[in-house]
Amino acid sequence: MNFADLALAEPIFRALAEKGYAEPSPIQAAAIPPALAGNDVLGLAQTGTGKTAAFALPILHRLAANPKHRLKISTRCLVLAPTRELASQIAASFQAYGKYMKLSVSVVFGGVPIGRQERALFPGVDVLVATPGRLLDLVMKGALDLGHVEMLVLDECDQMLDLGFVHDLKRITGLLPKTRQTMLFSATLPPAIEELSQRYLKNPVKVAVQPQATTVDKVVQSVVHVSQPEKLALLAHLLKQDDVERSIVFSRTKHGADRIVRQLAANKIAAEAIHGNRSQAQRTKALTAFRSGELTVLVATDIAARGLDIPEVSHVFNYELPNVPEQYVHRIGRTARAGRNGQAVALCAPDERGLLKDIERTIRKPLAVQPLPGDFRDLVGLAAKNIKLAPPEPEREERGDFGRRPGGNNGGRRETSYGARPARDPRVAVRPDGRPGGRPEGRNEGPRPAQARDGQRRQNQGQRRSPAGR
Ligand code: AMP
Repeated sequence: MNFADLALAEPIFRALAEKGYAEPSPIQAAAIPPALAGNDVLGLAQTGTGKTAAFALPILHRLAANPKHRLKISTRCLVLAPTRELASQIAASFQAYGKYMKLSVSVVFGGVPIGRQERALFPGVDVLVATPGRLLDLVMKGALDLGHVEMLVLDECDQMLDLGFVHDLKRITGLLPKTRQTMLFSATLPPAIEELSQRYLKNPVKVAVQPQATTVDKVVQSVVHVSQPEKLALLAHLLKQDDVERSIVFSRTKHGADRIVRQLAANKIAAEAIHGNRSQAQRTKALTAFRSGELTVLVATDIAARGLDIPEVSHVFNYELPNVPEQYVHRIGRTARAGRNGQAVALCAPDERGLLKDIERTIRKPLAVQPLPGDFRDLVGLAAKNIKLAPPEPEREERGDFGRRPGGNNGGRRETSYGARPARDPRVAVRPDGRPGGRPEGRNEGPRPAQARDGQRRQNQGQRRSPAGR
């Protein structure tokens, strides 16, 4: 199959030819025809296989085939994504594929002033890409009316349907017209979340081009067993290997990421952190420098685990193993993109062996064990003189961007995040009757993040115009 067989509108076809796309990727070949026909779609494909175009191209075609005047403060297509960086990247893809169309694309997310976003939405847009928290803030300010949405996409839908977002998602979908096309895409979809996804879809066409949760074959994966105090020296050693060109180091927590950056600096390795406690300006600056190659080591929490497309990433280091095994699949998908090779190395401390087993069960294969480098203990001896090992701090794991408080910058306050999950907890709690929902087991402490946020939002609501009162 080639793009001509898909009969996409000429301006889209021209943009694809200019980008050098010769033929649709398997997920595109499978998802585009039913999407063009107006069906709801549930798309499962490994990361880096062209998922964005799989939903963007049919949307652009449908917009081109049925041009309409833009309505003020409205959008015809809404794409929701879990992080700001992913939202920006998706908006850039729409712009690239739609560059020969008269298209208006906007992206909105928290952490930056809201005024500019309000002004961009005022004349109405064709495509709006958003993180859920800021989207609701704009709705409640009366700056956005979701009543004219014709197409809805949830990218990384398993995360969007998970506990941290599902509450916002319910409120958003409640504001959308019932008659619409909905498309859900992800690389992983645990069964309980897939069941939940059915609530948002009508007679969907399910397209899955790879077995779920498999990792991209081109990623060479390995694990090094190492004690926690030796991890930093090992990381510094690995980062200095010749074949390591550009790497992302994943830390489980925000403070942990900062600590790694400081300790790498003490080892003369320049790195920048990206996580929810950094300002949006800092996050954007770090990612831009990393994309351009000016910065070669990015230390990130799981907010960078999904969707980011930087083809030059040669290595992913899992400094700590993720508590949720599917996150491993997303993390290592940041390498071996666009046909390149990539390596993923997990640094596994003795107390992480259970997490490693969970990961191996999820990806259905064992990771190759890489021995500690022969001279490593000597190196540790040397490096340890420079490295001050801070005691581990209890902190919550971070996986996505949740609505910051209106008014933009968080002023350095903690961003709401998922609680760290015990390794074997189900992704979604199952009620006694077997339906998904409620709290995961063992999380009876305090309100859920979404509830806490919502409570705060309800308080704020008194000071704002409600959408109904607009
Ligand atoms: P995604 O999975 O959407 O993040 O896309 C991964 C990478 O594949 C991006 O760099 C896209 O530009 C590229 N890509 C997407 N579709 C195609 C295609 N049909 N041919 C060549 N490259 C593509």
